[in-house]
Formats: sequence, C-alpha cells, structure tokens
Amino acid sequence: MSNGTARSGGATVCIFAVMRMDMKEERRVDPETLAAQGTQASEADGSVVPPLTPSTTFARDTHYALLSGSRSYARDHNPTFEPAEHLLAHLEHGKAARLFASGMAAATAVVQTLAPGERIVAPRVMYWGLRNWLLRFSAQWGIDVALFDAADPDALARAVAQGNNTRLVWIETPCNPTWDVIDIARAADVAHARGAKLAVDSTVATPVHTRPLELGADLVMHSATKYLNGHADVVAGALVTAHEDDWWQRICEQRAEAGAIPGTFEAWLLQRGMRTLFVRVAAASASALAIARRFEDHPRIERVLYPGLASHPGHGVAARQMHGGYGGMLSLRVKGGPEAALAVANACRVFIRATSLGGTESLIEHRYTIEGPESPIPPDLLRLSIGIESTRDLIADLEQALERA
Ligand code: PLP
Repeated sequence: MSNGTARSGGATVCIFAVMRMDMKEERRVDPETLAAQGTQASEADGSVVPPLTPSTTFARDTHYALLSGSRSYARDHNPTFEPAEHLLAHLEHGKAARLFASGMAAATAVVQTLAPGERIVAPRVMYWGLRNWLLRFSAQWGIDVALFDAADPDALARAVAQGNNTRLVWIETPCNPTWDVIDIARAADVAHARGAKLAVDSTVATPVHTRPLELGADLVMHSATKYLNGHADVVAGALVTAHEDDWWQRICEQRAEAGAIPGTFEAWLLQRGMRTLFVRVAAASASALAIARRFEDHPRIERVLYPGLASHPGHGVAARQMHGGYGGMLSLRVKGGPEAALAVANACRVFIRATSLGGTESLIEHRYTIEGPESPIPPDLLRLSIGIESTRDLIADLEQALERA
C-alpha cells in the first residue's frame, strides 16, 4: 500500500484529498485543502503525516535491482523531499518540483545551466545576494548580464532587445525591497519571442497570491526559507517547472551532482510548515495592507512602498496577477534620511530587528546598512516583514517608534 491509500476492512480508502481528486471521485479540491492535508504519504499505514526517512542509501535485491524501483542514494532521491515537492508542484500548477539546500542553491543551479557567451537579463533591484553572486559568477564564467529597471514597464523588453544571445530572463516580483511589480505575462512574451526562458523568483508572492507558470513562466523559484516554511527555522529552496524538458533535466542533474540538497529533517519540517501556508500568508497580507494604509499619510513617512496601495506604480499589474492579497512585505521611507530610519528601527518594541522575511514574527530591517554604499536601495528605507501577530500591536509599535525616534 502506498501513496495515501490504506486498507479498511478489506476496502481501499483514500485518505488524501488530492488522491480523491486524481481519482475523479470528487470535484477538484481547493489549494488550501491540498496544503492543509499534504498530497502524499510515502507509506500508507494510516498515518496522516508523512514519515521522515533518514536513510542515505537504498538496498538492492540479489539481481542488483533497486528494491524501491528508483532510489539509490539520497543525493539523487530522498523520499522525505517528496511530500513538499509534490505539494509545491500542485500549488504552482507545475509538472514537477525539486527542493534545494537554499533559495540561492536553487537560483544558482538555474544560472549554472548557461554556457559561456550566453546572456541573462535580470532586474537591477532584486534579492541582493543573488544579484551580487550573478555579477561575480558571470564575470568568471563569461556570461553577459544585463540589468534593467523594474520600475519602468518597458525596460525589460529594451534590455532583451539589446543583446543577441539572451537565454534566460530572471525576474523577481514584487522586487525585494522596493516591491516594484513586473508583469509576468508580458515578460514571458518578451523572453519567448527571443527564444529565452523565463524564471520567476516568487518567494514574496507565494503560490497563495501568484502562479507564474499559468502566466507563461517556464520556471518558478522560491526561497523556501521564507513563507513556504514560514517559521524561521529552515533554510531551503525550491524550483517548480512548467515542462519536464531537457533544461529541467539539466537543472535536476546540477542539483544531484553539486549536492545542492536540503537536509532530510529540513525537508520534513518544510512540508509541515507548508500545511499552514494559506492561513499565514492571508494573515500577513491583510496586516501589511492595513499597515500600509495607516502609514501612507503619516507626517514622518516620505513614502510607503506596497503594491496593494492604489498609489503604488505597480498596483494595476499587481491587481491583475496577484490574487487574494499583495503579500506581507512592505517598505517605509522615513523622512530625515538613514539616521532617522535607523532611529525608528531602534525604537521598535514588537518588530524584531533582524534580516529575512516570511516568518510568523514581524521583522524590521535597514537594508542600506546591510547592503552598503554600492546598494541601489534608498538609504532612508526600512523593510518590514509582517508576521501573524495582532495588527493592532504592529500599528501601535510603529506609531510609538515614529513618535519616540
Ligand atoms: N529570493 C529572495 C526574494 C530572498 O529574499 C532571498 C533571501 O532573502 C533569496 C531569494 C535567497 O534565499 P535563501 O536565503 O534561502 O538562500
């Protein structure tokens, strides 16, 4: 017995909603239901939660055939990865998904499929760790990188048109930490017209709000460290593909050969965290919108950057491609420059001063201090990752911090 079926008094019953869905016994269940139940248990002994399998190696029979049929060694195949991979593929409406050691491991596996002489187009403001690595790696590897301004809706098409050999368009939307919004469907048209692939870092939007593959993207990437796991206790990454093609095969080989895999326990924790993805993201998004609205006209705030605000230049595109909310991330530009911004962060009592995002606890960060003088980020910007605390407490904390600072 396997894959979510169990015997009950001689009859086989399906215990997972996705299995019933696949068997066409019932209407398609909503993604919230898939996430809450998971999509798979590897051994259906009736356990509702998938097991954790620590084995790094898998036995063969006397004919030297693998007993499991395919699993040989845990760097290539790990059964504990599968519940999270299957669930993510379902949620993103993709063909397949793979977990990675981190978001960076997932992103770099994609870029490393390019050959010297090929070209990548990516936003100038994006997750800075990836931008920095991309610039360094491309110089060493002989890849041409063109950066475009995500706040300008025509800049991507111009950047792609300026080179001959664009193989990959990499976008992040909303872009961390200015939350500029990139039109995924338009980016897919631009990339495909030149024979390039479109990969989308959808860490901030999550599959709760956006499904890039449905809009034409070829690949979705997540830092699973953030919302997917959601409890600030796992570092992991994930890729989901629209096509099981040669490119996907190369990415999977890159993961297995470079060993860019998460630990077994981390993968197990990740599938556990994903069960509450929808409720966490909905709560964070609702709070973020309330906070953005509350501080938009505050006398000490220069600007609130949040795609859910009608005043945000990307709001129209966000309203089209994001569903059910605009995410839990926003930034405040504080009047008085970097010193004033740092003073506000220091005066917070509920928000925690720390990097990262997507956990249950709200974080506040002065990105310019972290990124340094080369950063394209405005020095007066505070990035807020909204958690699932009481919205009233978060608003009261920012109000007192703005008053005291
Ligand atoms: N993408 C985004 C939008 C991020 O914010 C981060 C990390 O902060 C990453 C990718 C990299 O993920 P990880 O830290 O899991 O490697």
